[in-house]
Amino acid sequence: MKIDDRSKWKWQLSHRINSVNELTGNKPQIEKACSRFPMSVTPYYYSLIKRFDYSDPIYSMCIPNEKELIDYPFLKDDPLNEEHHTPVEGLVHRYPDRALVLLTSHCSVYCRHCTRKRVAGQKEYFIDENKFGKIIEYLKSHKEIHDVVISGGDPLTMETDKLEYFIRKIREIEHIDIIRIGTRVPVVLPMRIDDELTSMLKKYHPIWINTHFNHPQEITKESSEACIRLANAGIPLGNQTVLLRGINDDPEVMIQLCRMLVKIRVRPYYLFICDLVKGVEHFRTTVDKGIEIMEHLRGRLSGLAIPTFVVDAPNGGGKIPVLPEYILAHEEDKTVLRNYEGKVCEYPNPVI
Ligand SMILES: *Cc1c(COP(=O)(O)O)cnc(C)c1O
Ligand code: SF4
Repeated sequence: MKIDDRSKWKWQLSHRINSVNELTGNKPQIEKACSRFPMSVTPYYYSLIKRFDYSDPIYSMCIPNEKELIDYPFLKDDPLNEEHHTPVEGLVHRYPDRALVLLTSHCSVYCRHCTRKRVAGQKEYFIDENKFGKIIEYLKSHKEIHDVVISGGDPLTMETDKLEYFIRKIREIEHIDIIRIGTRVPVVLPMRIDDELTSMLKKYHPIWINTHFNHPQEITKESSEACIRLANAGIPLGNQTVLLRGINDDPEVMIQLCRMLVKIRVRPYYLFICDLVKGVEHFRTTVDKGIEIMEHLRGRLSGLAIPTFVVDAPNGGGKIPVLPEYILAHEEDKTVLRNYEGKVCEYPNPVI
């Protein structure tokens, strides 16, 4: 191995760890756990592990756990019922003005907490031109769609020219204002964010990217530089964190994560409660825990660094924002509120 090969994204992809023999840890246990959902870890992401057991957040997010094998009736393959809102293969249309396009089932790392396990890593595929043609037809004939979210799998695992083809076709549709890309690549394969990619992306503005950092240990020199390169290409960056028990369900960890994100020019966008997808029971926590964390952030952290906490309604009701209760009473002539310290104040209704 040449020393600089590791810094190339294709080397990282072709050297992904996907068999138990290459791992450190309890091998028989992991072997058993692998039987259900695929494993794949980039050597880069693997190198961020500090302890080779589930007490390490990186290890826990990428190494299969026997607990994934336990079935609970309330955990589903498709917890958000995305299939129900799929008018053409590879497109989810749940909100009137937005559509989600799933271009590939391929990811560089298969996250143990992934919501889209029915897609991600299940027979790795990229959508073909014929199927994509149908997606484009749908988008063209639905003039109410202004925002297209490109996701998967992870779209940035595609070759640049292939991705460009898809983006160009979407950009040609006049009523589409925003193209967003949902990707975990800056976190798990940051070397993918190279000049070739950023020069391609910036031809199709407005492009927005939402990435997926869950823990401060993921913010490294490499991932910071990747985000800064994207920001320098004029791409606004947001972050979607999943609230995971034992990983980031701690107000101090969340403060640290959010603070570090704004420093690398990423704006915390959503904090999601863990969806009811198979294999995640050991990661789930309560909505109250999320509210407690939100309560802790407000007042202690720059408003720019505070995400919106959302519950993506089971069975496909869409995202529901959840806030601590700041309104104490609605009275005829005023609203009674409290601030983050519990201090009560009143806002009078207008008199005319
Ligand atoms: C989350 C989501 C979107 C985007 O929602 P925003 O709140 O605008 O970020 C669009 N379509 C689907 C199906 C989604 O799940
Ligand atoms: S990168 Fe995203 S789609 Fe892929 S496994 Fe992780 S959470 Fe799922």
